[in-house]
Amino acid sequence: MRHLAVLGSTGSIGTQTLEVVDNNRDMKVVSLAAGSNIDLVEKQIRKYHPEVVCIFNEQKARELARRVADENVSVLYGMDGLIACATVSSADVVVAAVVGMIGIRPVIEAIRNGKDIAFANKETLVTAGHIIMPMVQRYQVLLTPVDSEHAAIFQCLNGEHHGEISRILLTASGGPFRGRKKEELEHVTVEEALRHPNWSMGKKITIDSSTMVNKGLEVMEARWLFDVDYDHIQVVIQPQSVIHSMVEFVDGAVMAQMGTPDMKLPIQYALTYPQRRNLPGERLDFSRLTEITFDKPDPETFPGLQLAYQAGREGGSMPTVFNAANEKAVAMFLNRQIGYPDIPRIIGEAMETHEKISNPTLDEILEVEAEVYARIEKR
Ligand code: NDP
Ligand code: MG
Repeated sequence: MRHLAVLGSTGSIGTQTLEVVDNNRDMKVVSLAAGSNIDLVEKQIRKYHPEVVCIFNEQKARELARRVADENVSVLYGMDGLIACATVSSADVVVAAVVGMIGIRPVIEAIRNGKDIAFANKETLVTAGHIIMPMVQRYQVLLTPVDSEHAAIFQCLNGEHHGEISRILLTASGGPFRGRKKEELEHVTVEEALRHPNWSMGKKITIDSSTMVNKGLEVMEARWLFDVDYDHIQVVIQPQSVIHSMVEFVDGAVMAQMGTPDMKLPIQYALTYPQRRNLPGERLDFSRLTEITFDKPDPETFPGLQLAYQAGREGGSMPTVFNAANEKAVAMFLNRQIGYPDIPRIIGEAMETHEKISNPTLDEILEVEAEVYARIEKR
């Protein structure tokens, strides 16, 4: 039996993780965490009977505790609650699927407690990869990628030697604005940016996909997961989202992982690795698939990707600045406080004004996050 802690259980990855649990008799949920959606968490408690639950928002947590008084579950709140869910002694594996840097501390504490990590929460690795990856080694835990591109790369690397990798080819759909010019994005609305052509995901990552900031975060995520430097990570536009990423080896061989766009595959594989299991769902139909095309990213229209490479290469606290500025800017865009082109503009400004810290501690990362937020609010 695999005992799962599901952090972000009400989200896109969280709910699909629970579908995977439904499909695998040897998986059991022992803890659940979410931000505020207590209606859904209540249903999840009644179905999965976890030992402990965290609702980050204290008032909502208290209301939920009243509602589920008939269930044998502890309802906690705040960061302490989130960490309690990530470290509950019965859990073998933590599905890290909250959105944003809020996931850093729970992931670190989970590793310290010897939990394996099924890893979706990319913002955590982008900002604290230099702390997390050495801990994965030190505590001998297994960290398996859920992000579809990284899950693809992980599969392409099965049985291969690290020293024989020549390039990682990270694919991107290009999002809803692929092919547009910069001027055409001046007046993009929230609704337009939320319309992703191939994947159905949470709001923040959907906006990030439209700006290509998501791909930038994934470049940094790949750097940490696969220990490959930025000169050897290339982004390739693959509009049909059939090839989920590729690896080129020193002899010129390129391995690709293909499939229909369904996050349940990487989620399940992250939980059952090295085993593959049956997964109901659509299959690629090569008699109907008439083309697989490729393109180059357009740096003029999508400056967010270049900024990510820049932040990643500078390293230290710069990826935190990139990520925190983006988190804040996306939240403001979703609240209709800023325009669409302001997102990369705000990231660029935040990076320009930041004095880099070379090897930031966890506290320094969180301080930089708070500073970046405060400065953007004041602008
Ligand atoms: P969603 O917005 O759909 O879900 C986010 C989840 O995090 C919700 O359960 C939410 O709870 C919870 N949450 C938010 N804030 C807090 C908090 N302070 N404390 C506890 N829980 C909190 O996001 P996604 O599922 O789309 O994405 C999750 C992560 O996975 C992101 O890092 C994303 O980049 C990554 N990812 C997602 C993919 C996808 O297909 N969706 C693909 C690859 C990576 P509530 O509902 O109560 O607000
Ligand atoms: Mg991805």
